[in-house]
Amino acid sequence: MQIEIEKLTEAGQPFAHTYAAGELSLEEEWARLLSEARIAGRVSRKRQRVHVSGTVEAEIEVSCDRCLKPTPVAVKSEFDVSYDPPDADEASENMELQPDDLATSVYAGERLDVDELVREQLLLALPARSLCRAECQGLCPTCGVDLNEKKCDCAQQEIDPRWAALAELKKKQ
Ligand SMILES: [Zn+2]
Ligand SMILES: [Zn+2]
Repeated sequence: MQIEIEKLTEAGQPFAHTYAAGELSLEEEWARLLSEARIAGRVSRKRQRVHVSGTVEAEIEVSCDRCLKPTPVAVKSEFDVSYDPPDADEASENMELQPDDLATSVYAGERLDVDELVREQLLLALPARSLCRAECQGLCPTCGVDLNEKKCDCAQQEIDPRWAALAELKKKQ
């Protein structure tokens, strides 16, 4: 979905779109849409700056952090984003001054790409860690067996790599 920037007004207008599950790719190998994705919000323009706010929601499949099993995660996010044209000197200066300001992006051309906005917002809203279930046992770091399904004979002496480095150091002294 694209929104024509030229036609936007300062008062703004509501917009909404529902993407069917196969309609939008998240363009990441580790995440894909499981359900339809819904976006609804309001878009306005003041001079060259476009402002979009609203909510986006979907169910996304990622890999469990411990056992890599496909795991559904429900995501619902509120966003509030501003876009500047790529040729605005002032905009690029602002971006250099505030590299951390995620809320200002640059739009290319005459249309605002809502697909890209939805993709960005959904990926941003994903939790840093996703587990298939809280008590997931994960994979054995030695043989790779899924410890949820079977036990293995590897010695249970996993050492935190930080401690291992410390032990190494002590040996040398
Ligand atoms: Zn798991
Ligand atoms: Zn093992």
